[in-house]
Amino acid sequence: MLIVEDLSVYYEESRVLSRVSLDVAPGRVSCLLGRNGVGKTTLLKAIMGVLKPRRGRVALGGVDLTSRSPSDRARAGIGYVPQGRGIFPHLTVRENLLMGFEAKRDPTPSPAAEEEMLEMFPVLKVMRGRAAGTLSGGQQQQLSLARVLLRKPKLLLLDEPTEGIQPSIMQEIGEVIRGLGRKGDMAILLVEQFLDFALSTASEYFIMDNGGIVRRGSVSELDDETAREFLSV
Ligand code: ADP
Repeated sequence: MLIVEDLSVYYEESRVLSRVSLDVAPGRVSCLLGRNGVGKTTLLKAIMGVLKPRRGRVALGGVDLTSRSPSDRARAGIGYVPQGRGIFPHLTVRENLLMGFEAKRDPTPSPAAEEEMLEMFPVLKVMRGRAAGTLSGGQQQQLSLARVLLRKPKLLLLDEPTEGIQPSIMQEIGEVIRGLGRKGDMAILLVEQFLDFALSTASEYFIMDNGGIVRRGSVSELDDETAREFLSV
């Protein structure tokens, strides 16, 4: 589904990603792990097309997207929930849900699709007329996720969905992500600092260090020694 090949990304002259390759298949939840500052967010941004690579390519479902804009990539099926959620605090929950749709080029979601989202996140149904800025961090995270899911992405990129949210909501969000994985048609790439959440949500892992992927494998086989070597501070 997603293929990243040999991707190098620089900020000015400083190289942050160095020939990164990874692939994520539909029906898989993969987590991208690594210490702070190794380039995880940079990699998600490069997959979304917000940052341009100096070399390498990004393809989704066999279509090369390397030279395409972020909005083209969204239309091609990449959904991105950025760190900090990116919601519009002064718009209502419902207005935020509809914000992902551009009137001219995207059809607006069907009422059934909207209803499905509100069933998945019941709290948003209750709050749909409220200004999004008045929601708790966890509710905003659910809104941000619902807004992206409404477009039925083929690939979902999640940047630290647990940041600043309480454990009970974390559980709910973990359940939703696992459920999306089980459905089988979406590929999910999750960046997560909170190791317990990552390992209970994903089935595969990639570990980044020094701007590259240094280990990959099945979460059930991630040993303590590897976790200590690359993930502890
Ligand atoms: P992670 O998500 O793994 O914490 P990031 O991708 O955010 O890492 O950052 C990787 C490196 O790139 C860090 O050293 C960070 O300081 C640097 N960096 C991130 N964003 C920028 C930017 N806009 N300009 C310059 N350097 C940046």
